[in-house]
Amino acid sequence: MVSRPARLTPPVECVRLYDPASGLDGVIAIHSTALGPGAGGCRLWSYADMDAALADAFRLAEGMSYKNALAGLPFGGAKAVLRRPEGDFDRAALFRAFGEAVERLGGLYVTAEDVGTSVGDMQEVARVSRHVAGLAAKEGQAGGDPSPWTALGVFEAMKAAARLTFGSDLDGLTVAVQGTGSVGAELCRRLAAAGAKLVIADPNPARRDRLAHVHDARIVAPDEIARAEADIFAPCALGGALDRDTVAAMKARLVCGAANNQLAAAEVAALLLRRGITYAPDYVVNAGGIINVSAEYLGEGEASVAARIAGIAPRVSQILHQAAEEKRSPAAVADEMAEAVIAGAQRAIAA
Ligand code: NAD
Repeated sequence: MVSRPARLTPPVECVRLYDPASGLDGVIAIHSTALGPGAGGCRLWSYADMDAALADAFRLAEGMSYKNALAGLPFGGAKAVLRRPEGDFDRAALFRAFGEAVERLGGLYVTAEDVGTSVGDMQEVARVSRHVAGLAAKEGQAGGDPSPWTALGVFEAMKAAARLTFGSDLDGLTVAVQGTGSVGAELCRRLAAAGAKLVIADPNPARRDRLAHVHDARIVAPDEIARAEADIFAPCALGGALDRDTVAAMKARLVCGAANNQLAAAEVAALLLRRGITYAPDYVVNAGGIINVSAEYLGEGEASVAARIAGIAPRVSQILHQAAEEKRSPAAVADEMAEAVIAGAQRAIAA
């Protein structure tokens, strides 16, 4: 699995999880608690070895510190990475054992779903720990599936970035959407309603074909979507969508999508800059999900989620303006802003 390039900052705390009885084998990495408890989802994935799982956990935890800081959330960054047991396993027992480890941290780490985990898994965690979100929504409160909120943030960010890049709204622009899963499908719905033309790709035909029918979208093969004739490329599948080859062949002038860790390597940001392709930084654009998850944990209502998501587009505009003025990559500008927020909180703690 591709992760965002790490700056190799050591985590504040790293807890090894190992319980042969339940099959639990993994790690909780807490990168920063300057702004609050470390918050970030729990990933269940097949890793070749523990070193690969550790490396992924550290990078993902660091990414959550940056994402949470720039989203204005009172949380630091953390992530849990669990190695998927071989063959059949007792899922409920595994996630209860994980929940017990989360509870032992006493609120230093707040977990939720991520790749490979579900609401049901988090409900098992919630049996033994309070420090979990991503459960079913309660009446009038934030919660439930974060994907529609993520899609809303991406859509608003894209509108803002399109205004700066093309001097227009999305009406009449063509958007190439890579991945028509939970976020991609909802993004397509919003884009079609705004008058954008769609090109879509997904190796799974079920949702893709229905979307193509409903929104009159053109379907291309997954390996063609990044170089499709389009104004905007929206990566909404897995990480690493932007590598040297895809960027070299890209026709779109703007990249703005939901996927985490879009840059396959740090130097790809410079290549995008050289090619004159505007890059709306992934973790700024896709913060709607963690905004919803954190509001649920804090017991806030949907109005608070909507207010925080409304902050995403102006933040993206600010980053793109500054990057253009300074002739730097928006990715570097965003990282610098996030680091300043975290450093400010660290100074406040030390004072
Ligand atoms: P999802 O699993 O529902 O959808 C992903 C889709 O991508 C699937 O339909 C899959 O078939 C498709 N896909 C896989 N490889 C592809 C390829 N090579 N080309 C085209 N399509 C491909 O996931 P999601 O919840 O929609 O999340 C999408 C991305 O957004 C992920 O990177 C996720 O980490 C990120 N993200 C999601 C949220 C959220 O709230 N769900 C929040 C922040 C970030």
